[in-house]
Amino acid sequence: MAVKELLGQLHEAAECPRKQLEKYLGEGKKVIAMAPVYGPQEIVHSMGLVPMGVWGADVEINEAKKYYPAFICSVMQTILELGIKGEYKGVSAIIIPSLCDSLKTLGQNWKYAVADIPFIPMTYPQNRRQDYGVKFTRAGYGRVISDLEVATGARFSEPALAKSNALYNEHNRAMREFAEIASYADITAAQRSDVFKSAWFMTVEEHTAIVKELNEELKKGPRAEGKLRVLVTGILADSPSLLKIFDDNGIQVAFDDVANESRQYRTDVPEMANPVDALAHKFANMDNCTLLYDRDKKRVDYIIEQAKAHEAQGVIVLMTKFCDPEEFDYVPIKRACDKAGLMHLNIEVDRQMVNYEQAGTMIQAFKEMC
Ligand code: SF4
Repeated sequence: MAVKELLGQLHEAAECPRKQLEKYLGEGKKVIAMAPVYGPQEIVHSMGLVPMGVWGADVEINEAKKYYPAFICSVMQTILELGIKGEYKGVSAIIIPSLCDSLKTLGQNWKYAVADIPFIPMTYPQNRRQDYGVKFTRAGYGRVISDLEVATGARFSEPALAKSNALYNEHNRAMREFAEIASYADITAAQRSDVFKSAWFMTVEEHTAIVKELNEELKKGPRAEGKLRVLVTGILADSPSLLKIFDDNGIQVAFDDVANESRQYRTDVPEMANPVDALAHKFANMDNCTLLYDRDKKRVDYIIEQAKAHEAQGVIVLMTKFCDPEEFDYVPIKRACDKAGLMHLNIEVDRQMVNYEQAGTMIQAFKEMC
């Protein structure tokens, strides 16, 4: 299949998750909603269920205001809004990890606001690397498994999980390869985003097959010429209006450190005799993310290293409004960029944003200065 058709398939899935949900429900499958940022998709898949990501949407917030104050991130607010409005109808349960304070409140509000979709908590430890941290994560996965069994009637087995772990590792490799190829390929920021976004709404088997084919086709195609190479960092980078501004200004996403994009695919499940232990070690091995405890802020060094490795001329920080973890990281990122001689731009983003004129002007000025 040609690049255009492959990207077309991914665009369709990225643009219309409800259609994907209807498709899987129509095939008699049970679907589990996965809230940000890291949930055990491998466990869900191994039980014959379809994990689908829920990261909110660019919609007006009305109902969720009854549960949240205005100063909480719009990712949380719009997930709840969509839940209350019935957008996730048909989903068997939602898994909500506990990795930031806002996420902790989402589960509690969900129980009352969307009572027909069971809430399954996944409580992760802050100190994830030590033995006790791994044990804690493993216990959390045990709770998820038993709650999934109750909510769906599906059964868990270790051999099935071992197979799912291997499939997700294969997907990780395909996505990492895509990020490298897309760094130099003639591909727009919007198309690149579709590849990452669609992963949340397709089965891992379908998505891996398309991305592998896309990688092979892109390798044969032309390289991007004369564009401004930037590293993009943040929680989300999927706003069509913002991506259009990137593309109108000739911005090439040389690499990303975005929570719902490359951060998902950096760490594989290690080879271990017990697949649940292996999955708990995967979480222990994850790093360089705002939501993972990091006393030394190694994420900052990671951003600079990746910017240099991918020949980025600048760094664009997409700062999700009211996201405390990301806000804490901004000053060290700014200082590190200054020290490394990299231009940087901080754009505040919000699922509620309708006017991108200011962002457009900032990107134009950034381009001229780089
Ligand atoms: S990490 Fe930030 S954007 Fe994500 S849920 Fe927490 S506060 Fe919201």
